Amino acid sequence: MSNAFWSPALARLEPYVPGEQPRGQSLIKLNTNENPYPPSPRALEVLSDPHLADALRRYPDPESGELREVIGAHFGLTSEQVFVGNGSDEVLAHSFYSFFQRDEPLLFPDITYSFYPVYCQLYGIDWRTPALREDFRIDVEDYSGAAAGVILPNPNAPSGRCLPLADIERLLQLQPQRVVVIDEAYIDFGGDSAVTLIDRYPNLLVIRTLSKSYSLAGLRLGFALGQAHLIEGLSRTKNSFNSYPVDAIAQRVAAAAICDSAYFKACCDKVIASRSWTTEALRTLGFDVVPSKANFILARPPGISAEALYRELRARNILVRYFNKPRISEYLRISIGTETEMQALVQCCKEITGKHA
Ligand code: PMP
Repeated sequence: MSNAFWSPALARLEPYVPGEQPRGQSLIKLNTNENPYPPSPRALEVLSDPHLADALRRYPDPESGELREVIGAHFGLTSEQVFVGNGSDEVLAHSFYSFFQRDEPLLFPDITYSFYPVYCQLYGIDWRTPALREDFRIDVEDYSGAAAGVILPNPNAPSGRCLPLADIERLLQLQPQRVVVIDEAYIDFGGDSAVTLIDRYPNLLVIRTLSKSYSLAGLRLGFALGQAHLIEGLSRTKNSFNSYPVDAIAQRVAAAAICDSAYFKACCDKVIASRSWTTEALRTLGFDVVPSKANFILARPPGISAEALYRELRARNILVRYFNKPRISEYLRISIGTETEMQALVQCCKEITGKHA
């Protein structure tokens, strides 16, 4: 529904449809790739720190100086190579605005994070989507030629497939005059990060989030890593929107979480182990499961449509993600929960698919 006051661009805009966030129901929630484990205890301690009262009374540091130092040190970079924002979605928005408004189209895979076309529409950016291969693989050779830049998640979403670093390097070499954004929202679950390439590639911007591997989706903290000239571009855009990077609490909680490497690793290891177990268990039931390096899997059920299985699981209080889109509508995306949650999911899938065999 639109009205006469809306601009033509707004009337045409197809907004992002977020995953369901039902409140007040006891569900096994495996639909939006949240981490099933709590955030680091060190991050939670910040919330009861008496100094927080003073931090709240004042405006936050607009540059997020300390947090950028912490993030830089964590990755072996300087704070000038770090930009922080309110969730990686905001960092992505600033990146689209800063680097991709050009005469040529932006390139990203035809099955990928569905926010990318929304930002393109918002900022008047044309886009082209090279098709994934039959097995959901990205072929980086498809990303050559005149373009405004390239963006892709690695691992890709919702396939979970991950490109090796050699392919990322090839991509950077195919587009030496344009920014290549690698959205590493899910990289901590087993993929090789492109952060190690930053020194050698002035066109590489890596975007990260604390929403998945740090169990802090509610905090809204994302960041970008790249050479200082790209980070300066993002700051210029942010300051033009007059948006504060992140609030005072988020800056402190994020820094504490990043410093707690042992807890972080233990959580990621548990998710990775549950992913392997779930993949094997569903394959045994006859599902086609795409190999994943993320905290979710894309799985096609045997003998029943993905939509019907989604509904049957929902009736049993298990929420997964169904995409009513070409090709992936045969699959469900299942976030990796706790061991117990995954056992319950597999048990229900066994009962439901058994009935339809
Ligand atoms: N990139 C990808 C590929 C994602 O799947 C998501 C989460 N939906 C995001 C970025 C955004 O994450 P956040 O804004 O929570 O940092």
